[in-house]
Amino acid sequence: MNDTTIFPQLDIPETLAAGPGPGNTDPRVLARFAQTGLADHMQADVLRGMVECKEMLRQVWGTKNTYTYGVGGTGFSGLDCMLGAILPGDTVVAFVNGTFSGIDGLTIRMKAATREELAANAMDPQAASVTIVNVPHGQSVTGEIVEKALSQHKPKWAFMAHWETGSGRINDLQGFSDACERHGAMGLVDAVSSLGIADFSIDAYPGVVGWASCPQKGVLCLPLTYAPVSFTDAYIAHVRANGCASYVHNPVLEARHWGIMDGKDVPAGAYHRTHSGYAVAAFHEALRITLQHGRAQKARDYAFHEKALRDAVTAMGCDVTSNMTSLVVLNLPASLAGREKELVQGCRAKGFGIWPTLSEPVQVRIGILNQLSERAITDIVMRFAVAMKEMGAEIDMGAVQAGLDRHYQAAMAAE
Ligand SMILES: *Cc1c(COP(=O)(O)O)cnc(C)c1O
Repeated sequence: MNDTTIFPQLDIPETLAAGPGPGNTDPRVLARFAQTGLADHMQADVLRGMVECKEMLRQVWGTKNTYTYGVGGTGFSGLDCMLGAILPGDTVVAFVNGTFSGIDGLTIRMKAATREELAANAMDPQAASVTIVNVPHGQSVTGEIVEKALSQHKPKWAFMAHWETGSGRINDLQGFSDACERHGAMGLVDAVSSLGIADFSIDAYPGVVGWASCPQKGVLCLPLTYAPVSFTDAYIAHVRANGCASYVHNPVLEARHWGIMDGKDVPAGAYHRTHSGYAVAAFHEALRITLQHGRAQKARDYAFHEKALRDAVTAMGCDVTSNMTSLVVLNLPASLAGREKELVQGCRAKGFGIWPTLSEPVQVRIGILNQLSERAITDIVMRFAVAMKEMGAEIDMGAVQAGLDRHYQAAMAAE
């Protein structure tokens, strides 16, 4: 018997990532990844790169928080680090309006659960100290909803996703922060989908003490690198005083390698784990690209191109229920209702990577991460129109094209 199996070299084709994430990584980021030399995690340029990333990240987040850095891994790695401050028995109110805040809510219940609660339902614990406020799919978490729940429960922690990618909804960050301040709750925000797309400065939201994002959406650094996080001094003081049951995702310890110790920037990092020079270089380039584009300009560009896509799919008879600017979440016309997954699978099989919603109700999600041009949006619109036509939808392609032309010509005329 042969107990060795060596598979052929793995080839992954180039696809058009037109979903909620990951975004289409910029060639400059991939070049930095591939052209970086072999260097260990304490080599001077790797450490300098980490310090420079930290400083650029503060600009991208709009913050003076010293504890601003990247957590190795995906968005949920950063979220796990941020939510690690929640200890068994802590009171939390979490607002859930889609897939991702739903998973965050589960993480919170896992962390706040007592041993008994965890043992009673290990994979889905019902922690008595956690209140989950469910907001229906397709609706936003409003300031009033937050105010009502926090005034009633007066929790130690409050949690909300800024942009809920599962349903494509923007939640009320100002209302959340204000309510946290009013009721003395420490606010925690999942900013995975908004960082690098929305134009906002986290220091403008003093009710929020912890923020977590991801590498692969607005920051556009898919080569699995760093999930940006930022913590206020009050959050860090709380972790110092109460602890956190993690070495690797410890918000205080994880900061050391980025040159943050005892609340201060220090010149060179201290070992925490084996950071990759390739990942640091890629992340560094992604942050440079974001700052060169400019936060406000990038936000305007997303809004402009999302409008073109939204109008085009509306002209095809779809009903858009989202309000994020990087993603359109839609219901198909009545004639195709119930065939969302079939449509998406057909598109994906042709390398057009759109997505269904991952939780009920089933809708279609089309994203435009790093697709900020007339050509890219037209490509997405036409591929989607063809897929709908192939399933029997009647679409006036000329009218769709004319709509796109109007949108982009009006913009050219305005320049
Ligand atoms: C994508 C996403 C996540 C998960 O990020 P990963 O990089 O897949 O771990 C969490 N929250 C929100 C709001 C997201 O959009």
